[in-house]
Amino acid sequence: MSDRLLMNEMSWTTYKERIDKGALIILPVGATEQHGPHLPMGTDAMLSTAVALDVAKKIDAIVAPVVAFGYKSQPKMGGGNHFCGTTSLDADTLAHVLRDVIKEFARHGVRKMALINGHYENMMFTIEGIDLALRELRYDGIKDFEVLRLEYWDFTTQETLDKVFPEGFPGYALEHAAVMETSLMLHHFPHLVDESAIPTDDMAHFPAYDMYPTRTGWVPCSGVLSPAKGADAAKGVLLAGDYAKGVTEAILKEFPNVKVKG
Ligand code: ZN
Ligand code: MN
Repeated sequence: MSDRLLMNEMSWTTYKERIDKGALIILPVGATEQHGPHLPMGTDAMLSTAVALDVAKKIDAIVAPVVAFGYKSQPKMGGGNHFCGTTSLDADTLAHVLRDVIKEFARHGVRKMALINGHYENMMFTIEGIDLALRELRYDGIKDFEVLRLEYWDFTTQETLDKVFPEGFPGYALEHAAVMETSLMLHHFPHLVDESAIPTDDMAHFPAYDMYPTRTGWVPCSGVLSPAKGADAAKGVLLAGDYAKGVTEAILKEFPNVKVKG
């Protein structure tokens, strides 16, 4: 069996052989979105792919090319779509990209898939893409295609949260470009993090409602929603360990026939 993990690095013949033998496909979904002055805009795409690769090292899985554009960044969870460089899709475009890609996997014989979402705002539209694909596949007579869908941060254990946030956890939405993502990036892609540029803004405070057009003044100018100080690679190791273990266990629970690597 080829030990390559990325679909993009495989020949079609190797891919076909792996799929025919029951390999699972992992589709990472991210965004191209500002992540403060210290992290790259590909952070959500890179981290969902990094989780996928860690899982694919443990089981017979192929990591598909990441969907690198996501649904529009929202002020309370991603800073907002007004930041230069945050390049987003309309909801139906994202859902239809996912629908089309999932149907293509199925058409070529894939029957097991995991979708790893790394951008909060994508959540409902990943569900829509999966739902549309499964509905159309049923019309085509393909009824045994199954998808496991997740947000990777939901696999953070309480034990890790206590260690990463000794002063209390601000919640996943405000964790944009903050301690979790910065720590994960310091672990996976240290050369892409500029620690000297980590902003010193306080935690953002939002009202219980939204305004349209966006009140850009509600969002810290840096684009970071809670302080990233305290981020380090050791915390990234703990977080990444939770994701590799938790996501692998979930996949093996739902797809018990997927082979575990020795
Ligand atoms: Zn992010
Ligand atoms: Mn995001």
